[in-house]
Amino acid sequence: MKLDWQDIQARGARGVGISEDEALAVTALSDEADLVALFATADAIRLALKGNAVNTCGITNARSGRCPEKCNFCSQSAHFKTAAPSYTTKTADTIVAEAKQAAEYGVREFSIVMSGRAITARKDLDVLKDAFGRIRAETGVQTCASLGLMSREHLAELKAAGMQSMHHNLETARSYHDQIVESHTYDDEVETIKAAKDLGMYVCSGGIFGMGESWAQRVELGVDLRALDVDSVPVNFLNPRPGTPLADRHDLTPTDCLKIIALLRLLLPTKDIIVCGGRELNLGAEQINIFKAGANGVMLGNYLTTAGQAVSADWKMLEEQGMVVRAPPHRPHPPSVPHTIRAEGTDLAGLHGKPV
Ligand code: SF4
Repeated sequence: MKLDWQDIQARGARGVGISEDEALAVTALSDEADLVALFATADAIRLALKGNAVNTCGITNARSGRCPEKCNFCSQSAHFKTAAPSYTTKTADTIVAEAKQAAEYGVREFSIVMSGRAITARKDLDVLKDAFGRIRAETGVQTCASLGLMSREHLAELKAAGMQSMHHNLETARSYHDQIVESHTYDDEVETIKAAKDLGMYVCSGGIFGMGESWAQRVELGVDLRALDVDSVPVNFLNPRPGTPLADRHDLTPTDCLKIIALLRLLLPTKDIIVCGGRELNLGAEQINIFKAGANGVMLGNYLTTAGQAVSADWKMLEEQGMVVRAPPHRPHPPSVPHTIRAEGTDLAGLHGKPV
């Protein structure tokens, strides 16, 4: 299939994504001239719909390890012998302090992540409610959580307490999901996403790439995320963890990673495409090109069980690419970010510190 880049760009700028057939044709591109056209089109669509505003996220791993689920990429599963830390739920005080630190580093959205199939214990829900209320009152960053499979009732309770966004990855395509996640189903993931969408929450859902899936399955995942109308798509590239079944997988080249980002921008032109875990390992020096490939967001600081690069290096990258931080929905005071970076609509002072 011959791709009409001008038409794809014009449609994308109107918020219309490419067809599944076009997406499959994109995945087959390998000539340098074709890849240049792909990235230029994805970049133009990003600029048309998102400008140079960038979403910045930070996370805390508020409960780590001992997870009864079996997700073959995850070092926190109790099924595998790994070096991942293991601890019970942090206190609300600790989580709020981490959120404040992340706000100082300039994150727009702060997510509380807990290992496990689901959050059901009343004491955990109470910690989360306390933390959400205080983070909203004291930092102004957008509040998010990633808590496994969630019931509508628990989501509604957390939303009332101040949780604005819900993160829950599909992980991979439906046709590959049972090779990766052995303890719950793709439909379980979908139900959690639908519950949050029904409640009017901002839903962040994507996957991990480089787990052995085919290019057609990457398209399949993107098409499903579009059908679910998720609001943002976190793009993770596998950082293989010793001790897990995927410990020896190294499937992706930097160009593959950029192609995946561009593919998602073309499929989901209006959505936020956020590059998260595995960025440094899989992209190396090419990570500076994630925005030119269509991304408009990045996770700052450390990931759940792996270290990210220094926040100062991330800010340098944003600066070099001319990106500005998208202002949080309600921030009582300007964030501290580097003097050379201006958050949208704010005057800023200097950035201090190390990764979150
Ligand atoms: S991804 Fe989540 S549910 Fe799966 S094993 Fe890891 S912590 Fe458990």
